[in-house]
Amino acid sequence: MRIWNDETIPRLKELWNEGLSCSQVAAVLREEFKVTISRNAVIGKIHRLGIQARSRNPKVVIRPRPVVASKPKPSAPKAPRRRAPVPVPIEQFFAPAREGGVSLLELEYHHCRWIEGNPSDERPYCGASRIVGRAYCPHHNELSIGKGTPRERNSIKAAMRVA
Ligand SMILES: [Zn+2]
Repeated sequence: MRIWNDETIPRLKELWNEGLSCSQVAAVLREEFKVTISRNAVIGKIHRLGIQARSRNPKVVIRPRPVVASKPKPSAPKAPRRRAPVPVPIEQFFAPAREGGVSLLELEYHHCRWIEGNPSDERPYCGASRIVGRAYCPHHNELSIGKGTPRERNSIKAAMRVA
């Protein structure tokens, strides 16, 4: 008796389309038709019949997913980008000394008061951004601390406290 006939073949397709595995299909066919049929026989028959996919899930295998036609998913509103704080080198807080210095008229609150060269010059002041609470920029602040007698330094400090 041939195991594949008008009864077993439709049943094979049916069981396969129901999602049974090859060994399960073989077991059912053995039970229902009292035939000797192995898992490999089922695999071979399915192959010969050209059954490529289970009709239960036609979308998955048979139809290629439309790529172009698919609508873009409505994307969730983007959270505002937060810029990571960039560490700023301490030097950048202070503007460099102005080329040629700053005159008394040009002197602004944030300008370093350090007088470079002769006070009678047109632009004697350093003009770099000064340290908050100090009269001088970092460079000249160091110079101011390192210079003079202790008494002079104290007087400078006292002047700074007043300012
Ligand atoms: Zn300065």
